[in-house]
Amino acid sequence: MPKASATWLIKQCVEFVEKTEENIEMIPGYTRGLYALLHGSGDNFDVVYIGMSAEGGVRKRLKAHLKSQKKKDEWTHFSIYEVHDNIQPKIVAELEGLIRHIFSKDKAANFLAKQKQYEEIVHVSSDLDKWLVSWKCKNCLETALSNGRPDGSDCTKASKHSWERV
Ligand SMILES: [Zn+2]
Repeated sequence: MPKASATWLIKQCVEFVEKTEENIEMIPGYTRGLYALLHGSGDNFDVVYIGMSAEGGVRKRLKAHLKSQKKKDEWTHFSIYEVHDNIQPKIVAELEGLIRHIFSKDKAANFLAKQKQYEEIVHVSSDLDKWLVSWKCKNCLETALSNGRPDGSDCTKASKHSWERV
């Protein structure tokens, strides 16, 4: 019986593989997931680029990077993180977007192209003082979502709701 995977997203990965056509050819064509282009040796690898193939085709992406005039000399190694078969393409896209987003203003991140912020993350971004928190009334157990303490009136079990953060 195959061993149950300990990871929810990643099925398998290869890391810090030398950039050669032969190595890239060994990646199955259907491979879906994230990949990183790296530059370095030994224990030091700078991330040059983070990409993904949500629908399958990591090998094709790496081949394109290999031939790209702009990028081909910028990386020496690569890593691939294949997602489980049941992980939807939109999850792969979000994961890649999140990683890029985290690095989007990092001076030390030596990404080839200025990688964009992930729009969907921008849409859900907030300020700490607007961070929504859940509240629950200790008396009637009604719940509310608010960035401040919700109104205290109209409790069915007492004169006022007695809110506590949950
Ligand atoms: Zn109440």
